[in-house]
Amino acid sequence: MTCALWAGVSLALGVAALPVAAATLPQSMSQGGLVTAIVPAGSSATVNGKPVRIGDDGMLVFGAGRDEKGPVVVVVTYPDGHRDTSRVAVTPRAWPVERVNGVPPKTVNPPPDIAARIQREQAEVAVARKRDDNREGFVHGFIWPVVGRISGRFGSQRIFNGTPKSPHPGMDIAVPEGTPVKAPADGVVTFAKPDLYLTGGTVLIDHGFGLSSNFLHLSRLDVKVGQVLHQGDVIGAAGMTGRATGPHVHWGFNWFEVRLDPMLLPGIEGTSPH
Ligand SMILES: [Zn+2]
Repeated sequence: MTCALWAGVSLALGVAALPVAAATLPQSMSQGGLVTAIVPAGSSATVNGKPVRIGDDGMLVFGAGRDEKGPVVVVVTYPDGHRDTSRVAVTPRAWPVERVNGVPPKTVNPPPDIAARIQREQAEVAVARKRDDNREGFVHGFIWPVVGRISGRFGSQRIFNGTPKSPHPGMDIAVPEGTPVKAPADGVVTFAKPDLYLTGGTVLIDHGFGLSSNFLHLSRLDVKVGQVLHQGDVIGAAGMTGRATGPHVHWGFNWFEVRLDPMLLPGIEGTSPH
């Protein structure tokens, strides 16, 4: 998505003309990208066949995963029953290979007796990501959670100690241990545990409409589940707990279970964390 789209979404507010959704949805989006748009209040919508929330103000949100080929098919049904179908093309990206060496071997190939624990922890996080409510914590854009050097990018194919693993599901920013980590946007804490096997100190912030941030490898947690956060509030401190080779903040971003690229978020895109 582009900043122009973000700025332009409110243009259609309250307009009940029929081709509104087609006009406010972008023609295309990037893999890993997020789209927010406004459709007439009282509409309903599906994205690739799945019903999605429409806010009281007509807010519609969806994302495209790393491997999404598109088009993303968005069907908006207006209050008068008229239906409008948009096909948003998805622009492919090239994903680099990232070799990460010096990772604790027990986190690359966890011992079998640990597998159940990892599965249980991932299931708990998955539950937190199902949350879908009408807070629009994302609507004013995002800020960098820390200032530092980008040490890992979303989507790169990762090879840990020579073993190929899943693509990197977020971005890494290298910072000294203990650096305060800030909430990038308003939200509610939906998960906060200090010691997950792979991700160490882990905090999830729900921004509404299925959008959530996750922060991993934290050395300290300053928040608890249910806590309401404002953009810039400190949630904890950077560290290297779990599968990490040095102190950094991993920032992951989701639309429900779909992982998106924080670098494409409004307020972040085109800027750097320095
Ligand atoms: Zn990471």
